[in-house]
Amino acid sequence: MKAVQFHHYGGPEVLQLSTRVAKPSPDENQVLIRVMAAGVNPLDTYIRAGEFGEVALPHTIGWDTAGVVEAVGPGVERFSPGDRVYTMKTVTGGCAEFTVADQNYVGHLDQALSFEEGACVGIPYYTAYKALITLARARPGDNVLIHGASGGVGVAASQLAKAHGMKVNGTAGTDEGISFAKDNGCINVFNHRHRGYVNQLLDTTDGDGYDVIIEMAAHANMDSDVELMRRNGRTIIVGSAGEVKFSPLSTMLKENWFRGISVQTSSPEELVEFRNAIEAGQRSGWVRPKIGSSFPMQKAREAHKLLNSRKGAKGKIVITI
Ligand code: NAP
Repeated sequence: MKAVQFHHYGGPEVLQLSTRVAKPSPDENQVLIRVMAAGVNPLDTYIRAGEFGEVALPHTIGWDTAGVVEAVGPGVERFSPGDRVYTMKTVTGGCAEFTVADQNYVGHLDQALSFEEGACVGIPYYTAYKALITLARARPGDNVLIHGASGGVGVAASQLAKAHGMKVNGTAGTDEGISFAKDNGCINVFNHRHRGYVNQLLDTTDGDGYDVIIEMAAHANMDSDVELMRRNGRTIIVGSAGEVKFSPLSTMLKENWFRGISVQTSSPEELVEFRNAIEAGQRSGWVRPKIGSSFPMQKAREAHKLLNSRKGAKGKIVITI
């Protein structure tokens, strides 16, 4: 079968389309999926660059996929051949004609969603749910800031917060990203590249601040997040691209807290909760992944280049198989 692989770590140029990869078969508790599309996440680029620990080489890229169940291994009862599904992690690599995934990381894909949309569900929506509901314990009526609302996780978090009756504001880095974030549930969206946007964000809460901040760029924003949180406000650190000079003193007066998240290390019980919530969300209609760009698997390098270099996010990048 065909698969997008790398044989050594490096930039997007190390990706290549291999044409003679052995088709995998499912073991106990595993599902074999005929892949139709694979989502591109920042995580894939960290793995490709060798920044996420060692992987066996050659390595087939991709965690998020959508497709159709081809066969199931012993112990799998939730899925049958022909089911439409998505994954948030695979065993053999997602950007391939077939992949094998542990059933814990597979969910049903509603007919209302295309396979390309389904490939954008796994990591972004599970992360958004874990950040907002499991860790931050956000509630209806809360003031929520999605700090980076134009990308994969930001879109999912905005849709989730709106669907749960929260008051959602966001940020993006371009005019296009701003209108895009508004289309996905944010009431007010400001440009995180403009001076003064922190005051504008505060003004929209009448100076009270935010109950919850979902933070995609903690290296840039931790200081201002303290300013933006109300008393007992919670910031969930989803993304960070570097170190930060920060005074812990600033968290004391309002008893704010910061908490990191790792969706990759979620427990089996958490995965069940995320999956049930996201399946219900597909049915009720709030799970609506947004695709910014789509590439065929022959152009996987271009997909990774775009993720590494785009000046303004507008939803997800997907690779069609
Ligand atoms: P993405 O689609 O590339 O989106 C990145 C987002 O960050 C965009 O909305 C971008 O806005 C925004 N951003 C850039 N500079 C910013 C700044 N100074 N302040 C606030 N926002 C800023 O990536 P993603 O899939 O949404 O992932 C976001 C981050 O979370 C990445 O670092 C990823 O590695 C991480 N992540 C972590 C977990 C976890 O478990 N911890 C899970 C998933 C993702 P513009 O492009 O419009 O400027």
